[in-house]
Amino acid sequence: MASASSPAPVRVRFCPSPTGNPHVGLVRTALFNWAFARHHGGTLVFRIEDTDAARDSEQSYEQLLDSMRWLGFDWDEGPEVGGPHAPYRQSQRMDIYADVADKLLEAGHAYRCYCTAEELEERREAARKAGRPSGYDGQCRDLTAERIAAYEAEGRSSIVRFRMPDGPITFTDLVRGELTFTPENVTDYGIVRANGAPLYTLVNPVDDALMEITHVLRGEDLLSSTPRQIALYRALAEIGVGGGLVPAFGHLPYVMGEGNKKLSKRDPQSSLNLYRERGFLPEGLLNYLSLLGWSLSADQDVFSIEEMVAAFDIDGVNANPARFDLKKAEAINADHIRMLDVKAFIEACGPWLQAPHAPWAPERFDAAAFEELAPLAQTRLTVLSDITANVDFLFLAEPVTDEASWVKAMKPGADALLATARAKLAEAEWAAEPLKEAVLAAGEEHGLKLGKAQAPVRVAVTGRTVGLPLFESLEVLGRERTLARIDAALAKLAA
Ligand code: GLU
Ligand code: ZN
Repeated sequence: MASASSPAPVRVRFCPSPTGNPHVGLVRTALFNWAFARHHGGTLVFRIEDTDAARDSEQSYEQLLDSMRWLGFDWDEGPEVGGPHAPYRQSQRMDIYADVADKLLEAGHAYRCYCTAEELEERREAARKAGRPSGYDGQCRDLTAERIAAYEAEGRSSIVRFRMPDGPITFTDLVRGELTFTPENVTDYGIVRANGAPLYTLVNPVDDALMEITHVLRGEDLLSSTPRQIALYRALAEIGVGGGLVPAFGHLPYVMGEGNKKLSKRDPQSSLNLYRERGFLPEGLLNYLSLLGWSLSADQDVFSIEEMVAAFDIDGVNANPARFDLKKAEAINADHIRMLDVKAFIEACGPWLQAPHAPWAPERFDAAAFEELAPLAQTRLTVLSDITANVDFLFLAEPVTDEASWVKAMKPGADALLATARAKLAEAEWAAEPLKEAVLAAGEEHGLKLGKAQAPVRVAVTGRTVGLPLFESLEVLGRERTLARIDAALAKLAA
């Protein structure tokens, strides 16, 4: 049995709203919560905050789940797995919120506010002009029964407002240390709309309380709502909603994008789908995202997800803003591609070797030829989608014609070199080493080093100036096709 002093088992939550495409900030939050839960042998609750019917969509919901699965996350409670606090979609919990709002009203922790939007704006403006704090001024805090009756008779609608306690709210942020918010800066706030729809401000803490969440790890953009939520948790505990716990909070640092501006959801760089479509490995992307506010050690940027889980704790999270660095993300992903065993690499390439990614006719694909070159490609890719351009010369009937590459490689004299190379290649034993000797010898006849001599051959055969090691490529392509392509290039040069 747990002793009274032993801490409650860790229960964290990931609770996105299904609006739009998942973005990297969301993934970082999911990752830190997941790693924290796994590190502590705790529970990850996945909750869908879909109470905003105007912005939430079923398609986004499906995409969220699909993204979480692709990233390799698992959750202990939530959609598709269920759990003791089901349902985990807030849109299916509306009765609960209505009931809690009633209880808060009854206990005096909330009240009806009849102010119209115009009245509120007018008073806010006046407060601003007078240099006073411009939050809600508490006008409806203590309305008399007569006043309320009069408002109702007028047909005014009302929202439900939470009554903030009078004193300051202090808490110890797990990332930033002790923080204090004074009442002037945290005024009474709406929790239920005039039409009865509960707001995020209510449903999020209510579910945290009911689901007995012990730690809230989320982005710094939500820090200003934390004192309000803490006051609400305390009120919920008082009226017996949930387990009476106020979770500990840790706010993850901002992620900065281009020009030192906060990375926004609208930034193309922040779209998870983009990374997926380019062929990031989930483990590469997660490795990179873990570095946005955390590090395994000063001298190790590349690690497995298991290593991260073993080492991850919230006290290692840094409060300073993190900079999103696409180049670094790519470099780390490239390392993860190299770390795959060849079989796994070949498998991971699968989708990029088929339509719609692959430009060749499916029947031209030759798995054995691909497997021969795969180990050479593996060390060169940044993202998996790069594989297509690296091997398309093998499976296209004609090589790609990249005009810039052609101009660069086919300088005057290229035709003579190509003709010599063709003659020597035709005589050579068809294996990488003798093929290299052949081109080297052709180069010598024309006073060219190997690098210069092989460029026209490469462009003739693959269409590009860069690619996999040339002679291995020729070996796999075969004598007949290699020579035919050189002939075609010679004809083009002669034309
Ligand atoms: N649904 C909220 C959001 O996506 C959750 C915020 C929180 O973690 O408390 O911003
Ligand atoms: Zn009011």
